[in-house]
Amino acid sequence: MEYISTRGYENHITASHAIVSGIAPDGGLFVPEFIPILSQDELIGLYKKNFQDIAFFIMKKFITDIKSEDLKQCISESYNPKIFDNPLICPLRSLTDSIVMLELWHGPTCAFKDIALQLLPRLLTVSAKSLGEGSTFVILTATSGDTGKAALEGFKDVPKTKVVVFFPQDGVSDIQKSQMVTQEGKNVHVIGVKGNFDHAQNGVKEIFADKILARKLEGMGIKLSSANSINWGRLLPQIVYYFSSYISLLKSSHIKFGDKINVCIPTGNFGNIMAGYYAKRMGLPINKLIIATNENDVLARFVKTGVYNATKELKTTISPSMDILVSSNLERLLYEVSGHNSEKIFELMNSLKQDHNYKIDNKMLSLIREDFYADYATEKNTLKTIRAVFHKYKYTIDPHTAVGLHVYDKYVKKTEDQTLTVIASTASPYKFNRSVMNALRKKTHSLENKDEFELLNILSATTKTLVPRPLKNLASKPILHNTICEKDEMKKVLEDILK
Ligand SMILES: *Cc1c(COP(=O)(O)O)cnc(C)c1O
Repeated sequence: MEYISTRGYENHITASHAIVSGIAPDGGLFVPEFIPILSQDELIGLYKKNFQDIAFFIMKKFITDIKSEDLKQCISESYNPKIFDNPLICPLRSLTDSIVMLELWHGPTCAFKDIALQLLPRLLTVSAKSLGEGSTFVILTATSGDTGKAALEGFKDVPKTKVVVFFPQDGVSDIQKSQMVTQEGKNVHVIGVKGNFDHAQNGVKEIFADKILARKLEGMGIKLSSANSINWGRLLPQIVYYFSSYISLLKSSHIKFGDKINVCIPTGNFGNIMAGYYAKRMGLPINKLIIATNENDVLARFVKTGVYNATKELKTTISPSMDILVSSNLERLLYEVSGHNSEKIFELMNSLKQDHNYKIDNKMLSLIREDFYADYATEKNTLKTIRAVFHKYKYTIDPHTAVGLHVYDKYVKKTEDQTLTVIASTASPYKFNRSVMNALRKKTHSLENKDEFELLNILSATTKTLVPRPLKNLASKPILHNTICEKDEMKKVLEDILK
């Protein structure tokens, strides 16, 4: 299996090389040259496998230059009961005969990014080994909250790596911030940026595009790499849980072999749902991929109109991990629906950079609409959904997941499609407890004077569930990182760290 940049200037790259590089030198994203399709027998064969074995089977299709033993070991170390608090790793929980929640938050940071970011450091290490690469890797990441912490947990104390995380000072919850600024580990750096996620992400993109800096760092034996979902090593592990979900649904007799399911994904950078698209193209019986956005509804409008317009001002919402105007991974979808037309992608991405918008042709748009439905939830919709789901099912969801459920409801109202739908539950409700408690509290009950740490216990008492272990002792942990910078100082801050 070889990889190619969506913008066409890099090709015949191995998986290791793609993972070690993160982003392609031409600014594009690495994509597999073709999407492997599973035979019926292979699909049926997954029935006997557990999560770890399914992971190996799927990933082996895309990674052909890492030894099988090495890949197996990466998987068994990552998807391990010592790290995930549920033996199934990504368990399902059915709410009705046609709504099943896919709980992706049983890892150390209580959000779905652990699935990929526990594996990525291990993949990166074996990839570097297989390339005979001796450099130190600096994992440079902009985070809207969850990626940063998951990267810090995944990479802490991994030899020959350093992690540098930039987070938007005004765009993450108190719990998220606290998780990051208390991070332990000898190789970790956490910096607040004055601005929103797009400022932080653009700053990081500029650092990656800086050829002079890259050469300077190379002289110091340092390579920059990314833990953002633009890295193929981030996306690939996410394909796995679509397959494991399907197998679990077969086992629980929710579906018969060959039945189609829908998947509904609360979406920001388009990584999670892009992985679902790859699963569909590989032959997993998926009917619709439902894109759910919050009030930052750029993607929803894009699927409606064919115009990607990132000029609207970014709103800070109660689902902050989806507060994004430029969904990087969409470039991978555009590449597929344009028939691998990298010149076209280059043109669209240039237009996005210069004019903050682009328009795709009708052929691309109709291909997208065949596979995807997209809609958004307002802040009010989100809170109402958290409350309704709790009262109806005695099940507590976080605001990102609530965006998914609300959009699913809209989809069913519009289409009357009764296909069983798997809705990704992307974070533990405890991680966004203020919004969740605001949704659940009695009207007379004010929570404004409570901090998010007290709210952990209040939420626990209200929902009669346990506070996840990783969040329980957060309040008493010392703050180890307190650097804050302007958005145009990010490069300088990085250079100072690496001196
Ligand atoms: C990152 C994140 C998302 C969005 O995922 P993408 O892959 O960027 O679309 C949704 N919910 C939560 C809780 C997240 O952390």
